[in-house]
Amino acid sequence: MSEHAPSHDANCIFCKIIAKQIPSKAVYEDEQVYAFHDIHPWAPVHFLLIPKAHIPSMAQVGPEHAALMGHMMALVPKLAMEQGCNPYPDGGYRLVTNTGAEGGQEVHHLHFHVMGGPRPWLRG
Ligand code: 5GP
Ligand code: ZN
Repeated sequence: MSEHAPSHDANCIFCKIIAKQIPSKAVYEDEQVYAFHDIHPWAPVHFLLIPKAHIPSMAQVGPEHAALMGHMMALVPKLAMEQGCNPYPDGGYRLVTNTGAEGGQEVHHLHFHVMGGPRPWLRG
Protein backbone atom coordinates (compact mmCIF):
# COMPACT_ATOMS: atom_id res chain seq x y z
CA MET A 1 0.00 0.00 0.00
CA SER A 2 1.20 3.48 -0.84
CA GLU A 3 2.04 5.85 1.99
CA HIS A 4 0.89 8.70 -0.25
CA ALA A 5 -2.67 9.88 -0.75
CA PRO A 6 -4.18 8.17 -3.81
CA SER A 7 -3.75 10.35 -6.89
CA HIS A 8 -6.35 8.52 -8.96
CA ASP A 9 -9.91 7.45 -8.10
CA ALA A 10 -11.26 4.73 -10.41
CA ASN A 11 -14.84 5.90 -9.82
CA CYS A 12 -14.16 9.60 -10.52
CA ILE A 13 -15.49 11.00 -13.78
CA PHE A 14 -12.72 13.63 -14.03
CA CYS A 15 -10.01 10.98 -13.37
CA LYS A 16 -11.57 9.04 -16.26
CA ILE A 17 -11.44 12.20 -18.43
CA ILE A 18 -7.73 12.67 -17.56
CA ALA A 19 -7.12 8.99 -18.46
CA LYS A 20 -9.02 9.58 -21.77
CA GLN A 21 -11.48 6.84 -20.81
CA ILE A 22 -14.17 9.51 -21.29
CA PRO A 23 -13.71 11.90 -24.23
CA SER A 24 -13.37 15.63 -23.65
CA LYS A 25 -12.46 18.72 -25.65
CA ALA A 26 -8.98 19.74 -24.50
CA VAL A 27 -8.00 23.32 -23.78
CA TYR A 28 -4.56 22.73 -22.21
CA GLU A 29 -2.52 19.89 -20.73
CA ASP A 30 0.79 19.48 -18.95
CA GLU A 31 2.23 17.03 -16.42
CA GLN A 32 0.28 18.47 -13.52
CA VAL A 33 -3.00 19.79 -14.91
CA TYR A 34 -5.66 19.37 -17.58
CA ALA A 35 -8.17 21.92 -18.88
CA PHE A 36 -11.21 21.04 -21.01
CA HIS A 37 -14.50 22.53 -22.14
CA ASP A 38 -17.46 22.10 -19.79
CA ILE A 39 -20.07 19.79 -21.32
CA HIS A 40 -22.89 22.18 -20.29
CA PRO A 41 -21.44 25.68 -20.78
CA TRP A 42 -23.01 28.58 -18.88
CA ALA A 43 -21.17 31.21 -20.89
CA PRO A 44 -19.66 31.62 -24.40
CA VAL A 45 -16.34 30.53 -22.84
CA HIS A 46 -16.62 27.87 -20.12
CA PHE A 47 -13.81 25.50 -19.38
CA LEU A 48 -12.65 23.57 -16.33
CA LEU A 49 -9.07 23.52 -15.03
CA ILE A 50 -8.25 20.46 -12.92
CA PRO A 51 -5.19 18.93 -11.25
CA LYS A 52 -4.29 15.49 -12.62
CA ALA A 53 -3.99 14.26 -9.03
CA HIS A 54 -7.34 13.30 -7.53
CA ILE A 55 -7.94 15.99 -4.91
CA PRO A 56 -11.67 15.83 -4.02
CA SER A 57 -12.22 19.56 -3.42
CA MET A 58 -10.74 22.80 -2.04
CA ALA A 59 -11.47 21.36 1.42
CA GLN A 60 -8.51 18.95 1.02
CA VAL A 61 -6.06 21.61 -0.21
CA GLY A 62 -3.18 22.39 2.14
CA PRO A 63 0.33 23.86 2.16
CA GLU A 64 1.65 20.82 0.29
CA HIS A 65 -0.45 21.94 -2.70
CA ALA A 66 0.82 25.53 -2.78
CA ALA A 67 3.01 25.06 -5.86
CA LEU A 68 0.26 23.24 -7.77
CA MET A 69 -2.33 25.89 -6.83
CA GLY A 70 0.06 28.65 -7.89
CA HIS A 71 0.67 26.90 -11.20
CA MET A 72 -3.08 26.63 -11.82
CA MET A 73 -3.86 30.23 -10.89
CA ALA A 74 -1.02 31.52 -13.07
CA LEU A 75 -2.47 29.60 -16.05
CA VAL A 76 -5.98 31.10 -15.75
CA PRO A 77 -5.34 34.53 -17.36
CA LYS A 78 -3.42 33.00 -20.28
CA LEU A 79 -5.99 30.26 -20.98
CA ALA A 80 -8.93 32.66 -20.54
CA MET A 81 -7.53 34.98 -23.22
CA GLU A 82 -6.66 32.09 -25.54
CA GLN A 83 -10.20 30.75 -25.25
CA GLY A 84 -11.81 34.03 -26.22
CA CYS A 85 -12.51 35.91 -23.02
CA ASN A 86 -12.27 39.65 -23.61
CA PRO A 87 -9.54 41.74 -21.98
CA TYR A 88 -9.87 43.25 -18.50
CA PRO A 89 -11.46 45.54 -17.43
CA ASP A 90 -14.32 45.72 -19.97
CA GLY A 91 -14.20 41.97 -20.58
CA GLY A 92 -12.97 39.56 -17.94
CA TYR A 93 -14.28 36.26 -16.62
CA ARG A 94 -15.54 34.46 -13.54
CA LEU A 95 -13.32 31.97 -11.70
CA VAL A 96 -15.51 29.67 -9.58
CA THR A 97 -14.77 26.67 -7.35
CA ASN A 98 -17.77 24.99 -5.80
CA THR A 99 -16.86 23.13 -2.61
CA GLY A 100 -19.03 20.53 -0.88
CA ALA A 101 -22.80 20.10 -0.93
CA GLU A 102 -23.53 23.56 0.44
CA GLY A 103 -21.05 25.01 -2.05
CA GLY A 104 -22.95 23.39 -4.92
CA GLN A 105 -20.21 20.90 -5.85
CA GLU A 106 -21.40 18.03 -8.06
CA VAL A 107 -18.14 16.44 -9.25
CA HIS A 108 -15.79 15.61 -6.38
CA HIS A 109 -12.48 16.18 -8.16
CA LEU A 110 -11.15 19.71 -7.60
CA HIS A 111 -11.93 21.97 -10.55
CA PHE A 112 -11.87 25.66 -11.35
CA HIS A 113 -14.60 26.91 -13.66
CA VAL A 114 -13.46 29.72 -15.98
CA MET A 115 -16.45 31.47 -17.56
CA GLY A 116 -16.39 34.49 -19.81
CA GLY A 117 -17.34 36.08 -23.10
CA PRO A 118 -20.01 38.58 -24.06
CA ARG A 119 -23.16 38.70 -21.92
CA PRO A 120 -25.93 37.64 -21.53
CA TRP A 121 -24.88 34.20 -20.33
CA LEU A 122 -27.14 31.18 -19.93
CA ARG A 123 -26.35 31.15 -16.17
CA GLY A 124 -23.97 32.84 -13.76
P1 5GP B 1 -19.58 21.43 -10.12
O1 5GP B 1 -21.07 21.59 -10.00
O2 5GP B 1 -19.10 20.17 -9.47
O3 5GP B 1 -18.82 22.65 -9.71
O4 5GP B 1 -19.30 21.36 -11.67
C1 5GP B 1 -19.15 20.19 -12.41
C2 5GP B 1 -19.10 20.60 -13.85
O5 5GP B 1 -18.64 19.49 -14.61
C3 5GP B 1 -20.48 20.98 -14.43
O6 5GP B 1 -20.41 22.31 -14.94
C4 5GP B 1 -20.71 19.95 -15.53
O7 5GP B 1 -21.35 20.47 -16.67
C5 5GP B 1 -19.32 19.45 -15.83
N1 5GP B 1 -19.27 18.06 -16.26
C6 5GP B 1 -19.85 17.00 -15.64
N2 5GP B 1 -19.60 15.86 -16.32
C7 5GP B 1 -18.84 16.21 -17.38
C8 5GP B 1 -18.26 15.47 -18.46
O8 5GP B 1 -18.39 14.24 -18.57
N3 5GP B 1 -17.54 16.17 -19.37
C9 5GP B 1 -17.37 17.52 -19.28
N4 5GP B 1 -16.66 18.11 -20.24
N5 5GP B 1 -17.90 18.25 -18.28
C10 5GP B 1 -18.63 17.60 -17.35
ZN1 ZN C 1 -10.66 12.32 -9.73
